[in-house]
Amino acid sequence: MSENYRPETICVQSGWKPKKGEPRVLPVYQSTTFKYENSDQMGRLFDLEDAGYFYTRLQNPTNDAVASKIAELEGGIAGMLTSSGQAANYYAIFNICEAGDHFICSNSIYGGTFNLFGTTMKKQGISCTFVNPDASDEEIEAAFLPNTKAVFAETISNPSLVVLDIERFAQIAHRHGVPLVIDNTFATPINCRPFEWGADIVTHSTTKYMDGHAMSVGGAIIDSGNFDWMAHKEKFPGLTTPDESYHGIVYAEKFGKMAFIQKATAQLMRDLGSIQSPQNAFLLNVGLETLHLRMPRHCENAKKAAEYLKKHEKVAWVNYAGLSDNKYYKLAEKYMPGGTCGVISFGLKGGRDVSVKFMDRLKLAAIVTHVADARTCVLHPASHTHRQMTDEQLMEAGVAPDLIRFSVGIENAEDIIADLEQALAAI
Ligand SMILES: *Cc1c(COP(=O)(O)O)cnc(C)c1O
Repeated sequence: MSENYRPETICVQSGWKPKKGEPRVLPVYQSTTFKYENSDQMGRLFDLEDAGYFYTRLQNPTNDAVASKIAELEGGIAGMLTSSGQAANYYAIFNICEAGDHFICSNSIYGGTFNLFGTTMKKQGISCTFVNPDASDEEIEAAFLPNTKAVFAETISNPSLVVLDIERFAQIAHRHGVPLVIDNTFATPINCRPFEWGADIVTHSTTKYMDGHAMSVGGAIIDSGNFDWMAHKEKFPGLTTPDESYHGIVYAEKFGKMAFIQKATAQLMRDLGSIQSPQNAFLLNVGLETLHLRMPRHCENAKKAAEYLKKHEKVAWVNYAGLSDNKYYKLAEKYMPGGTCGVISFGLKGGRDVSVKFMDRLKLAAIVTHVADARTCVLHPASHTHRQMTDEQLMEAGVAPDLIRFSVGIENAEDIIADLEQALAAI
């Protein structure tokens, strides 16, 4: 990290730093376990007295190289990989909150995260209040309780494409002495680095643009090292009081700025075990090596597709923050001057049934559950992910019944538009 390289160079070169005679390319450490020469060496690892590898459920050299590349891209001080984006968001919050605690979350977030926070974590005794990210400071601050321990939101929300005012959210969180956790999946650090705007912890579903090829599910957590846990000692006992399962280690004292990731590894990964497989980390790294080339192309193609759709007579509405008349254009310009992401959403005149007919006519764009990879793909939440809901329930969930999520890939933009054109002509 000391070289201060720019993002493009970090994508290609960072993480794995081979020494004399070592493989030039990041190796897959396909080993569950690591060898030591005497019992004391191993004992010191278990006491967290020495750094080193002992079991891949906790740490693996392939994973660590990839995590450190992502940490460097985000401008953070430490990172870890998880088996999925779901695990990353779960660990990020569970590393701060315990049973009896509360946190605040934007209501414009990924459906999986909404279920995790609103239903599953509630069963573990951690409650969440969802707030409208566009609400006033006063309205958001009214959601804080004495036991509130964190604020969570997405840079660009999936699938509603709301752009977050990160700086404002960071100020609100810090006024109440709690960290801001940002899921930066859709923007990626190529387009936005939330730490520069005051966020404290960043998470990713690396499954999306970072992997980029739709080959491996994964997640990442990155810590800025900026949040002072000891300054709010009483709020965060998990970090500031002895961990009896580790001979009374106080993470914030022993590891200082590295406390958050150390605890998430030593405690949560040890006990819950959502490690990313080294093979998947290797594939993720291959994706990361071209992230800086792919993101601008995604944005360029998405903008062209959005502009085309906007002018089409059969299209009722288009949502893309890169369009100058979009509600979030100003925020997008501030936080993502180089472009937002490749995902756009739109609705067709005639609603739900027409949307279904249109999608069945697409040839290049494939109907898949996935989003944000190299191949253009499409999903109609009302017919797929949110299938069980009535139109009324859909509106409540912020998903219009006619909403088509169109994830623009890195093919030739004219071919993508031609595909839209022929499908629109057929309805
Ligand atoms: C997909 C996604 C997740 C969940 O990630 P998985 O890797 O599918 O577990 C979390 N947040 C956002 C913004 C996502 O798009």
